[in-house]
Amino acid sequence: MKKNITISLILVLLTNCGWIGFNTPPDIIDNKLPYWLKLGARTTDELDMIVIHATELPDMAEARFYGERVLYGDQTGASGHYYIDRDGTIIQYVPDNRIANHTSGWNSRTLGIELINLGRFPNWYHTDYQKMQEPYPPDQINALIILVNELKSRYPSIKFVNGHEELDTRLVPSDNNPEILVSRKMDPGAYFPWKKFIEAVKLIKKIPNKK
Ligand SMILES: [Zn+2]
Repeated sequence: MKKNITISLILVLLTNCGWIGFNTPPDIIDNKLPYWLKLGARTTDELDMIVIHATELPDMAEARFYGERVLYGDQTGASGHYYIDRDGTIIQYVPDNRIANHTSGWNSRTLGIELINLGRFPNWYHTDYQKMQEPYPPDQINALIILVNELKSRYPSIKFVNGHEELDTRLVPSDNNPEILVSRKMDPGAYFPWKKFIEAVKLIKKIPNKK
């Protein structure tokens, strides 16, 4: 009896300290975008890459506002599948078996994960502000690692990961001087801890061949 109590106590301590429990699925809040049924359907065995984004917006409410905006003729807009807040809260905007518009040219085979982060907000394309301004808190990165490992176990066809900035390298005229070009996408940017992340999820950071 005493032995059982001791074992229970040790287990409780380990769980609370986060030493075990890595295999528990993450809590994901389901909050689909209003137009999600209008997004193209796919089978999830087509998935082979995860794309990491930063919202370049102040908070989840603003990210939601941008995600809900209808931008295209098919009455859909631009968003990732998952959004992770600074405290690690994960919200799903688009189901995995729908094609979200998050990375030009790569949407049909990828899942997009958005980290709430200021990025260059609100001077995205001003030449004086071409540096990401906010580090990623550990709670947010840990939640990302748990989510990506969960997605990997659900979809073994996922082999690659990249940042949005690697997959969209286009330049655009800056707001203050149209003759000077700036990066259209810079996310997740220099603050993103790629080394720690890749070690934890064991995906390949390499641009795959186009299908
Ligand atoms: Zn992005």
